[in-house]
Amino acid sequence: MMERMYFTTSWDDGYQRDLHVSNLLSAYGHTGTFYVSPGPQHGQHMLTEEEIRKLSDRHEIGAHTLSHPRLSRLPREEAQREIVESKKWLEGITGRPCTMFCYPKGDFDAGIVSLVREAGFEGARTVEELRFDASDPFTLPTTLYATAFPVRKEWDSVRKILDPLGPLRARMKRLWSIGVSPWRWGSWLSMSKKLFLKALKRDAAFFHLWGHSWQLDQYGMWNDLNEFLQFVRKYDVISLTNRELVRKLKDRKDL
Ligand SMILES: [Zn+2]
Repeated sequence: MMERMYFTTSWDDGYQRDLHVSNLLSAYGHTGTFYVSPGPQHGQHMLTEEEIRKLSDRHEIGAHTLSHPRLSRLPREEAQREIVESKKWLEGITGRPCTMFCYPKGDFDAGIVSLVREAGFEGARTVEELRFDASDPFTLPTTLYATAFPVRKEWDSVRKILDPLGPLRARMKRLWSIGVSPWRWGSWLSMSKKLFLKALKRDAAFFHLWGHSWQLDQYGMWNDLNEFLQFVRKYDVISLTNRELVRKLKDRKDL
């Protein structure tokens, strides 16, 4: 029997622009999980504690450590402190259990996964992309990254300058194997819509959109995001937070 696909979104780091994402999601009946870390990044304004609390009324707040380090490179006690204390910090602000975690920079190893599990989380998100199913709640992959595509828009290193089509190059093999053909690769929006339709067609368990709200400013992607969320709304999907997704997948014995 065909089941309805789950649709979930997540937004990293806790930028103040997340408030705009939150409004867009709500406008189309979607929910998000916001993985918040207190330290400023990329010279951006971050959410205040009051804003985090307000966000938690409509969406889920997940932990993302205190200082956004590469966890696998830290001594075990320090990594543990980053994980445990970020959970406590957010629970103190929202007054709600914080049960989802996101690995900063997608960095983790088996030891870090154990620490996250021991800290009482139900699951953790990675930065793996172009996936429609999961096998372990503590290595939850994503489907679509809201970022510059097909051409790079960050020129902060020689390597990147020499590789303008890096964003496409990193994904083309997988896109091809999913059946998103090259004539859809011209823009993020056309690639994303096709990817979504492919997910529906293959009866995927979920579609997980994620991103960084400040990049939507930097890459001029607000209209794309708006149009994509509007597009998704036309289909019969079930919108869930990351935690709800993990619970549903467990119920279905997918995890
Ligand atoms: Zn992050």
